[in-house]
Parts: sequence; C-alpha cells; structure tokens
Amino acid sequence: MESTAFTKSDLAKYPFLKQTAEYIKSLDLQIDNLASIGSDQILKRAEERVNKAITEIRVPKCLKTLDDEITSFPIALLIVIATENSFIKKRYALAEAKQASSDLINFNESKQKILKIAEDFDWKIKMNSKETLDSPLEFTVNFNDYLRNAAHLHDKKWKLTNSILSHGDVYLNKKDVIRLLQEEIRRRIEKRLDLKLASYPPELAEIAEKVKKIAVEVIGDSEAEEFPKIVVQAAFPPCINALYEAASSSHHLSHIGRFTLTSFLINIGMSPENVNDLFKTFSDYNERLTRYQIEHIAGERGSATRYTPPQCSVLQTHGVCKNRDELCRHIYHPLKYYLRKQGLDVKQTSKRGN
Ligand code: SF4
Repeated sequence: MESTAFTKSDLAKYPFLKQTAEYIKSLDLQIDNLASIGSDQILKRAEERVNKAITEIRVPKCLKTLDDEITSFPIALLIVIATENSFIKKRYALAEAKQASSDLINFNESKQKILKIAEDFDWKIKMNSKETLDSPLEFTVNFNDYLRNAAHLHDKKWKLTNSILSHGDVYLNKKDVIRLLQEEIRRRIEKRLDLKLASYPPELAEIAEKVKKIAVEVIGDSEAEEFPKIVVQAAFPPCINALYEAASSSHHLSHIGRFTLTSFLINIGMSPENVNDLFKTFSDYNERLTRYQIEHIAGERGSATRYTPPQCSVLQTHGVCKNRDELCRHIYHPLKYYLRKQGLDVKQTSKRGN
C-alpha cells in the first residue's frame, strides 16, 4: 500500500519524526550561537512549549509559522536537557506524546498517515484488508510492537488474551494504534532528553532556571528535587521506617499510612512493581485494586499527577509520625528528611555554605 508523504505541516505537528530531525539538520542551526537561529520568536515558543508541558501536561500547536514551530522543538529539548532534572524530562516527554496522540485524533489523520508514523518507529504494521463494519479493526500490528508498547498499559483490554491475534499480528482499531504510538513517542523523546551537555548557551541556561522555578511552583519542592536513582533505606525517616516494617510484616496500615508509604517510595524512585510486591502479603491484598492505587499515585493514570506524601504536620495529626529523631526537628516533610540525611538537600547545602 502506498503511503502519503509527510508535509511540512506534519513535521510541525509531529516534530519527533525522523524526517523532522533531517529537516532541522538541513537548516544548519548553530546551537552555540542562538542568534544564528534568527528569531526571538523561536526561543519564546520553545520556552512556551516547556512551560505548558509542566503546567498543563500538553503542548498546544502553533501552526502559523511552520518553520518556527519545527525549530522550536529541538530548542525546547535543549532547554529541558539543561534543567538536568529527570522529573521535568519525564513530564516534557509525556506532554509532547499526549499532545501528539490527541492531535492525531483531533486532526482526524488518515489511516495512511497513522501507518506512516508507525513505520517511522519501525513498526511492522499493515492495513487490515478484512475490516468489516461489524469489526472496525483497521490495522494489524506485529505482536512484538504491540507488547513493547502495551506492557505499561494496565487496563484489561490491553491484555493479549483480550485481543484478536492471528499469525503473529494483533488486530487493532485506529484509536488503539494511536494510544500505543503515544507510548512509543514518549520513549523516543525521553531518549533524546537523556543527554548531558558540557555547557549550554547562556540564553538556554537562563530559561532552564526559570523552568525549574515553575516546576517547583507547580509540583512542589520535594517532587521537583532530584532524587538519586538508588533507594537508600538507611535514609528513610522514622515514620517511613515504621510503616515499611509494618508492611513487610503484613501488619495493618491505615489508609493514610498506605498512601504515605506508597507515595514516599514512588517519589524516591522505587518502581510501582516493587511497591506492589510489598503489599502482596497483606490478607486484604487485591492485585487489581492495589496496582490501580499505586499507578494512580505514581501519575501513570488519570491526571498524570504524581502525588507526594503529606507534610509532617499532617502526619502528626493522623498519628503516622512516629519515633521522631533529631533531624525531624529541622525538616517539615519526609522527603526532605530523606534528601537531607544523604546530604542532598540543595537549599540546606547552600545555606550551610558548603
Ligand atoms: S517529623 Fe516528619 S519525617 Fe520525622 S517521623 Fe515525623 S512525620 Fe516522619
């Protein structure tokens, strides 16, 4: 089947495509000399992209000047890289991917275009020649491409046993293909953001600082702070230690206790899978419900907001604050305790003049 070519408007709408990267290369932009890009407009638009991603988890399109719109994407990526903050990176990738998926639906993109975008990710995808009105499954997608992207989607309908599978292909409708593409887009953008550059043009570094401040305002101090990738149990605050021990020995936890423990562990980098394992020995364990709650707290469902534990004052009111120690006197939040115990609390470090 012959597929349609991408137009310049497509490249502006879907800037994560390989062809967009080639187009940008042909413009020969000098990133270390942003003046060469020739327009403040592009920098402003790039900043707006990132800000909208943080505040609204979307990046509405601005298709009046296509070249500016296309160019603003790699500049936005550089701004996000310059923040050196994994939360902002994840949020940006998620927002661009969600926007692309809703644009594919709202612009009512043709099946040929969906197919071509999937091929940009090297999917083995075909139009379903046996599609009928009773069974509007417009595409067949190779089993491996399906599994790679559906693996993180927990709604029952994504289980392979609930899909129509034949000769290694899964039959899907347009909406489901777009949902799977959203996962692919998110991962591609996250990969592009997984870079560290030795230096950044001052204009970008300045915008990155502003973006970090916005992130703190929107998502809170603790969440915007960078957590080390390894979970350090020795740095758990006393309240979390008590909850963790209770959970490990299958003792009952109150609702707020469960929420506090789950949100704490998710925020310090424990995977939802490992948090789920912790609750498995509970007598009232319900796999579907527990997974749902953990993923909701982790921001993988619904509003994509990751929840943080309540502040110490709230935990004290609910009797969750236990075995306070000396460090507790100097912090107001369990996540602050965790960072400070490891000497990772940026504000405290600068206050001490270290
Ligand atoms: S003061 Fe805060 S961090 Fe310390 S035990 Fe109480 S709730 Fe936990």
